[in-house]
Amino acid sequence: MRAIFIDRDGVINKDPGGWTKHNYVTELKDLHFLPGSLKALKLLKDNGIRVIIVSNQGGVSKGYFSKERLEEVNALMLEKIRASGGDIEEVCCCIHRDEDNCECRKPKTGMLEKAIDKHSIKPRDTFIIGDSYVDIHAGSRMGIKTVFVLSGKMTLEELKKHDARPDYVFKDLLEAVSWILEKEKRKSDRAARRRSEGKRVDSGEEDTDSIRDGGDRA
Ligand SMILES: [Mg+2]
Repeated sequence: MRAIFIDRDGVINKDPGGWTKHNYVTELKDLHFLPGSLKALKLLKDNGIRVIIVSNQGGVSKGYFSKERLEEVNALMLEKIRASGGDIEEVCCCIHRDEDNCECRKPKTGMLEKAIDKHSIKPRDTFIIGDSYVDIHAGSRMGIKTVFVLSGKMTLEELKKHDARPDYVFKDLLEAVSWILEKEKRKSDRAARRRSEGKRVDSGEEDTDSIRDGGDRA
């Protein structure tokens, strides 16, 4: 796996819904990392997996905060992530609201499509980790494996009301990333074993393990 898609609010930092003025991170002081998220990002970096953030920030189009402020918040986030040993390859934000009819606002797939192209990512070879049905719908539409985390704005019950069916469910980013890395390791061990046995190795080989034992509570 070359890269992974991660939503921002409710996955990396505390979802701003319900306790900020506009339900968006419009102030630097409202950026609070969730427990374990910095460690998860470091683990990804240590394992050579690049992180692409895909985030809806419609509060810009709604006039709650400026694009410049959004960039400041992202810059602060990046600074803290790097200081703790992680990294982000690219931060993709959609600043539109529904009425703007853009192609990028999740559950639409514009941000994912662009990044897949730009970074030569194989959809079936990667994951999207998010805390909302929009992440799950966008990922499913692109054939990306979907991971729902319970650290953000939605419960599993709410998710189901939107008819979103994630492939996996975990408590938070750290739990999800730890499991993904373990799965990747098993996959590469298996490929190495087949290679040593002189068998053909299909790089796109699907997992034969019971992949749902990793924490799926859906
Ligand atoms: Mg979110």
